[in-house]
Amino acid sequence: MVELANVTKEYPGGVVAVRDVSLTVEAGELVAIVGPSGSGKSTMLHLIGTLDRPSSGTVRIDGHEVAALRDKQLSALRARRIGFVFQQFHLASGQTALDNVADGLLYAGPSRAARRSRAEDALRRVGLGDRLDHLPHELSGGERQRVAIARAVVGEPAILLADEPTGNLDSASGAGVMQLLRELHHAGTTILVITHDQEIAASLPRQVAMRDGEVVRGD
Ligand code: ADP
Repeated sequence: MVELANVTKEYPGGVVAVRDVSLTVEAGELVAIVGPSGSGKSTMLHLIGTLDRPSSGTVRIDGHEVAALRDKQLSALRARRIGFVFQQFHLASGQTALDNVADGLLYAGPSRAARRSRAEDALRRVGLGDRLDHLPHELSGGERQRVAIARAVVGEPAILLADEPTGNLDSASGAGVMQLLRELHHAGTTILVITHDQEIAASLPRQVAMRDGEVVRGD
């Protein structure tokens, strides 16, 4: 599902954030990415999410070699096959939970009514069926992250990428979010999750450890 071969990412100015990384993740895996701050975890997740292109090496996602795709094809791959969850939730503050999740389907192009109906299903799946019309500021941190996860998975992506999804949550809410990721994993979604929480990482089936831009364990 994910195949990085000798991938290096150098930012302008000469910082080598990811150095010669080779990593394969099979369909259906649930993988923790761990490592100190600045070790290249987010950069690697961005490369896997096709938000960024490598300086050298090859990135294959869901059978597609990223370098061979034009920007438009890359956007389509990203929109249809990859879901993102971030530490800061990134919800639209003036929109209800339902509309935030429905926006996750804008690219797929179904009617507004169909988008809202699928969004409602996704919110029920994450346990927020009674919060459809709440605005983000009317929800707890844990609930906001569950809305963000519903938005990420409403289009049924093959891959879910989560960058510190529990980083802004208390431990009980964080545990709820992790439980949700496990359920999505059991339903077949391939999931990569960056976490600095040792306990969370240790509880997941596979850990990939990074240091100074390199994968030092779990490749
Ligand atoms: P982590 O997620 O493990 O904290 P990052 O991937 O965010 O690590 O960063 C890896 C290295 O790349 C760091 O030294 C960071 O400062 C640098 N870096 C990240 N993003 C950029 C950028 N857009 N431009 C320049 N340097 C960057």
